[in-house]
Amino acid sequence: MTRKTLLTLTLLVSSLSSWAAPEPIIDSLRHVYGRESVRTSQNTGTPYADTLDTGNPDVKLVLYNNGTWKYARDPKALADEKVFTEYWDTETTNPYRSENVQPGDLHLWIVDTLDSYCCPRYGRISSKFGYRHGRAHQGIDLPYPVGTPVFAAFDGKVRYSQHVGGYGNLVIIRHANGLETYYGHLSRSLVEPGQWVHAGDTIALGGNTGRSTGPHLHFETRYRGYAFDPSWLIDFETGTLRHRMLHIRSWYFNPSQKYVQDVDDEDAIWEGDEKARIEKEEREKQLAAERERAAQAAMRWHTIKKGDTLSGLAVKYHTSVSTLCRLNGIKPTTTLQIGRKLRVR
Ligand SMILES: [Zn+2]
Repeated sequence: MTRKTLLTLTLLVSSLSSWAAPEPIIDSLRHVYGRESVRTSQNTGTPYADTLDTGNPDVKLVLYNNGTWKYARDPKALADEKVFTEYWDTETTNPYRSENVQPGDLHLWIVDTLDSYCCPRYGRISSKFGYRHGRAHQGIDLPYPVGTPVFAAFDGKVRYSQHVGGYGNLVIIRHANGLETYYGHLSRSLVEPGQWVHAGDTIALGGNTGRSTGPHLHFETRYRGYAFDPSWLIDFETGTLRHRMLHIRSWYFNPSQKYVQDVDDEDAIWEGDEKARIEKEEREKQLAAERERAAQAAMRWHTIKKGDTLSGLAVKYHTSVSTLCRLNGIKPTTTLQIGRKLRVR
């Protein structure tokens, strides 16, 4: 990358960050940009060559050894964010357990302009989310040869890295949007709690530890401790992130609720929203027209005859001189010309 390009991009990022989008724009972003799918990053396991400052102190430019680059939030800027301080526990798998409040419907930005995404591994799912032999399976299983690198799905901070019960060696990463991703049955973890990682970083090696009947990766997505089927988020067949913004419905947190393809198609729902908005506007227009017609119908007119005076007309039409003046834009002293139409109501 040339110095000039870098400078231009730097300026772009610094000006973008100070630009607060008005609500309607945010809303259209949600509808259009949020619906976009995201292809998995090619920078899997690629080491960084350098990290450079940009014009924005919160944004860094990460240069990879293979010549590619990306913008990323500076972890220092994120360190104090509540999401990385509250319920932050490096010794328990689910620190939200004490809270125990199932989240309601929410829209979660998964990847915005500064985040990236990398499919932890794509291909056939060997075991889906849901009940299995009477036991809740809170994630999905992907066949995974022992020793194969495991990649972080999104930028974030490692919260947990330990051997624990059925999970075997488990790594949990918390992301800035509050989402947590779990990577289980690892042969070896390569990260420590507190470590910041980028999407695509090698965080561990695949394995067969814990309650596992063959080498595989157990992958979970949780929000405030509640697991939902990762297939809502990722199409594992292609490795594609389904949408930049995920609409998580409260029932996704039901342990028996598997991903259903049709429900995911929100276009119809949003088109419905758009239709409702247009219908509302039409109704309002109609009402305004009706009010106008009613006002027109209520108007009364008087044609000035010889001898008419404003005070005389005020008495005749049970109104006042000032009202007559206001309705006709005249003064009490204005001469009334015979034949002129005067609005009296
Ligand atoms: Zn599993």
